[in-house]
Amino acid sequence: MKFKLTRKQKKMLYRIIAAAGLLVIAVVVTHLIDLPWWAELLIYVIPYIVSGYDVLKTAVINLLHGQVFDEKFLMMVATVGAFGSGEYPEASTVMLFYQVGELFQSIAVGRSRKSISSLMDIRPDSATVIRDGIESTVSPDEVEVGEIIVVRPGEKIPLDGIVEEGTSSVNTAALTGESAPVDVNYSDNVISGTVNLTGVIKVKTTSTFGESTVSKILELVENSSEKKAKVENFITKFARWYTPCVVIAALLLAVVPPLVLGMGSWDVWKTWLVRACVFLVVSCPCALVVSVPLSFFGGIGGAAKEGILIKGANYMETLASIDTVVFDKTGTLTKGIFAVEDIHPQEIDKTDLLDIAAACESFSSHPVAQSVVRAHGDHIDKDRISDVKEIAGKGVEAVIDGVRYFCGNGPLMELCKADYHDCHLTGTIIHIAKEVSEGKTEYLGHIVINDEIKEDSASAVKTLKKIGIKRVVMLTGDKEKVAKSVAEKLGLTDYHAELLPADKVERVEKLLSEGCKLAFTGDGINDAPVLMRADLGIAMGAMGSDAAIESADVVLMDDKTMGIAKAVLIARKTMRIVKENVFFALAVKALILVLGAVGIANMWLAVFGDVGVLILAILNAVRAMKIKFKY
Ligand code: ADP
Ligand code: MG
Repeated sequence: MKFKLTRKQKKMLYRIIAAAGLLVIAVVVTHLIDLPWWAELLIYVIPYIVSGYDVLKTAVINLLHGQVFDEKFLMMVATVGAFGSGEYPEASTVMLFYQVGELFQSIAVGRSRKSISSLMDIRPDSATVIRDGIESTVSPDEVEVGEIIVVRPGEKIPLDGIVEEGTSSVNTAALTGESAPVDVNYSDNVISGTVNLTGVIKVKTTSTFGESTVSKILELVENSSEKKAKVENFITKFARWYTPCVVIAALLLAVVPPLVLGMGSWDVWKTWLVRACVFLVVSCPCALVVSVPLSFFGGIGGAAKEGILIKGANYMETLASIDTVVFDKTGTLTKGIFAVEDIHPQEIDKTDLLDIAAACESFSSHPVAQSVVRAHGDHIDKDRISDVKEIAGKGVEAVIDGVRYFCGNGPLMELCKADYHDCHLTGTIIHIAKEVSEGKTEYLGHIVINDEIKEDSASAVKTLKKIGIKRVVMLTGDKEKVAKSVAEKLGLTDYHAELLPADKVERVEKLLSEGCKLAFTGDGINDAPVLMRADLGIAMGAMGSDAAIESADVVLMDDKTMGIAKAVLIARKTMRIVKENVFFALAVKALILVLGAVGIANMWLAVFGDVGVLILAILNAVRAMKIKFKY
């Protein structure tokens, strides 16, 4: 492990070293020479001030502002009390060790921040835009939609866009965790935040910087630490009550027993004062307060490295507890890239049927639509098309050259009262009908398309079951026949077909009412309402899909199904670490508190207890960042 300390951390380290040196000198001197008490006090106060003056300063300032009960205040009272009862070396060492703990903590927080901000490295600094044939370098904010930018090898792609000229390969690792580069050619989409590797490309921008994928992701990551988990809120509340209680308890411990036991004797007072100080030192809640958010930080950072963005610690908590995963089919379990298998026209040319279908679909972003447009291949004159209406979960209607067409599944044909018939082939069927007069349609035929299951879907489903997810369910708007074949191939627990977006919400609600802890996974097309309704919404293949990034709680940058199993494992590990830390810190503290109160534990044990727990908790928290997958 290599640390690069910040200036502040270096200063702190030097102070710690200086104070430690002075403390050693003090110990040696007091052993060799018999000093009067005030001289002894003085040579122990010097290292105490060197290591702890900022703690004392903050404690006093807070005190003046009426904020009495924080951990710095605890430290001050405890150490001053220790000096007061003649425990000079102890008092000085407590402060020194407290500062060692603080330094440790600041390094750990810095490191896990960095792991998240290594993702921040996706922020592009500039864009090279071509205006009137002249290249100029500007801030990405200044580029407008539709302008042409040049991206050279080694540069970050600053804005989302479409390749106009050139070929290259692009490294998407910062976004997806996937190290294999992706080739891009003319008309391919490129995403901001990825790195251009091999060739010079000219890109026509499709969004402003503020609306670009990179900005959305940065915003998401920056906000993720604000969403607190239940445990974190609990700890904050806990600390608010805890510190005053401890101070009062310490006060009682210092005063009540001597009053009851041995009035007047200084030795009795001293013993109980020391015990009260021990009690105070042990009670510092720092290990708890620091290590819990740090563990979440680590987990969120570790997930980000895998291309999994978790929008907050609260979602980490939910993710760890889910027992049901519901999938959308198209684009989630399947690739969403349909190949046209067959065209079955009725009293019309095959090419004409495809022409009409492609024209209708040319405004839709649905995977089905894009596949038809791709199969058509030729230029589509969009001026001929008007009045396009997308009917979610059914298809589209559009007017081409003044004639209205309907293009979609069986339910859409029923809606427009077309006399359609099903196909003997297995696959997703796109029926096409033409309006002949108001409310009367003529059936033109259908196109059979087929989607492929993603390579890792089957193993992902298997893994999910293996790691204890009870139900893996698929919901789809597609036909029963297609759904059944996918469900069988993947070994799903259950599936429901021919659902409209609203039916999907209903299905999810039914599962929720059965007491499932449910994560819904979709691609954001036609399923944003379900993403919001589930206990946890997971969006997949989010590179470029705004709807998904916005409505989901967890975003998988690439479109590998296995990401869900990984996300669950990361969340579970993080939660385990959080629980370990909370439990361990509380147990050790409780033990030393009891021992201290009855006089078995001395100041030394208290110091080691406190710093030791803090350091172990921090080391444990850092573990959340490193995750190995075994499945
Ligand atoms: P899924 O649940 O599989 O993601 P959707 O709810 O998005 O599917 O769509 C359900 C069905 O509606 C599709 O299988 C398709 O038959 C039809 N459909 C939806 N949008 C379109 C479209 N733009 N063009 C043609 N058919 C469509
Ligand atoms: Mg879908």
